[in-house]
Amino acid sequence: MPDPFLTDEHQLVRNSVREFSERYVVPITRKMDIEDYYPRDLIRELGKQGFLTPSVPPEYGGPGLDLRGSVVVVEELSRYSPTLGFIVEIVNDNIAYALMKYGTDRQREEVLPKIASGEWVASYALTEPCCGSDAAAIETRAERRGGEWVINGRKIYITQGAYADVYLLFARTGPKEARHRAVTAFLVRRSNCVEVSKLDMMGMRGAGEAEVKFNDCVVGDDDIVGKLNEGFKIAMITLDLARIGISAVALGLSQGVLDEALQWARSRVAFDRPLIDWEWIQFQLADMSAKLELGRTITYRAAWHFDNKDPVFVKYATLAKLYTAQMAVEISRDGVQILGGFGYTKESFAERAYRDAKVLEIAEGTNEVQRILLFRMLTRGLPEVEL
Ligand SMILES: Cc1cc2nc3c(=O)[nH]c(=O)nc-3n(C[C@H](O)[C@H](O)[C@H](O)COP(=O)(O)OP(=O)(O)OC[C@H]3O[C@@H](n4cnc5c(N)ncnc54)[C@H](O)[C@@H]3O)c2cc1C
Repeated sequence: MPDPFLTDEHQLVRNSVREFSERYVVPITRKMDIEDYYPRDLIRELGKQGFLTPSVPPEYGGPGLDLRGSVVVVEELSRYSPTLGFIVEIVNDNIAYALMKYGTDRQREEVLPKIASGEWVASYALTEPCCGSDAAAIETRAERRGGEWVINGRKIYITQGAYADVYLLFARTGPKEARHRAVTAFLVRRSNCVEVSKLDMMGMRGAGEAEVKFNDCVVGDDDIVGKLNEGFKIAMITLDLARIGISAVALGLSQGVLDEALQWARSRVAFDRPLIDWEWIQFQLADMSAKLELGRTITYRAAWHFDNKDPVFVKYATLAKLYTAQMAVEISRDGVQILGGFGYTKESFAERAYRDAKVLEIAEGTNEVQRILLFRMLTRGLPEVEL
């Protein structure tokens, strides 16, 4: 039975990402996790195949898929490597979308193709040591000096930050009290003014997480993305989209765990019977699959609303993020349990997935932030969004 939210083209995309993953991703996932290895060549290969920025149109070097297409790419990659799914959703939803919608012609023509092809590694630099959930309080400053902008400040937990060639950076361009009304988005090229320190994370290893310091980085007016003091709007719309992207990571990760648990339950024997013959195991697997199907339905629906330019997508994106992040933590925990001791070893996918899943409740807005947003929508209606 075809999925009502997906087309035959989406299915073809899924098949090619699966083939790609089996060939290029599977052999490297363990190294990425154990050595915290950033797969630079694989990022280029993802770009070559059009999987790094699925939503970028062909004139800027992407395949021009709709958002459901990019959800399918991220979901399928995350079955094998949640880290790669996470990288792709950030590059596509947080960065490429901002450039497509708010970038200048020069930024679209010169920068976007380099990001889409994987020639340049791109990072989204919003969070700071002072503030993550309260992004309107950021302290990194861009000051006007002699017709240029001079940027100083620190960003933290920046995915691919250790290896980035370019940062989509949000900085304060007015007084702190002006909060979100004095934030501007800039494109900052990596140079001597950028100092990176790698971070040692619990999961999503190999994503090049870093603290990034900007010391007197000079950029021009033509490096502003969107308008002066309108950066916060860009941050919010890209985060709305990224909530669908991160839900796709949760779906793929959970599917990977369910596949492994099912296979294990069929082959592992306990008390003279395969595990799968025991009712508790059957109920666990049934619950895992029920949660996953619910998560899939909400996520695809959110992307479908976006593709149909319906602002209600924001509500479903928030719902999907809240539900699927929690779902991925539960499914991976239950997967480890079904696998028993093997599930606690680094040989199993479930062990890595359990650590990777936790960040889905934190990144792209914590689950508490999703509850705050949902409560606001419940009491005040949908926020205004530019589509
Ligand atoms: C692996 C990883 C990758 C990341 N990648 C990026 C990236 O590429 N770019 C980027 O800019 N950022 C990135 N982040 C940062 C991420 O978006 C932030 O960590 C997140 O927004 C939370 O901010 P914080 O860590 O400052 O927590 P805080 O905002 O300090 O929150 C701490 C806790 O308090 C809760 N809390 C805060 N305010 C409230 C409230 N009003 N009511 C109830 N509870 C509240 C939060 O939900 C959380 O549980 C990444 C983080 C991780 C871990």
